[in-house]
Amino acid sequence: MTIAQRVAGFLREHKPKRFCDDCICERLSLSRRQQAFRVTSALGETSDFVRDDGECSQCHISPRKVTAASQ
Ligand SMILES: [Zn+2]
Repeated sequence: MTIAQRVAGFLREHKPKRFCDDCICERLSLSRRQQAFRVTSALGETSDFVRDDGECSQCHISPRKVTAASQ
């Protein structure tokens, strides 16, 4: 499974929760935050996901760039 597939699956599983790149990186045990950033940026361009400024449902730091599966 690719990192993109894992991130997409994770976000769908936790829909409608929003996560920042740091938390996605941590939850999926990615080695570099850059990997999460690259994937969430790409997902945010699709209609299935939303990427925006908001509060992360895990670390509650706001505002941050957060990504979620769309409703
Ligand atoms: Zn977070």
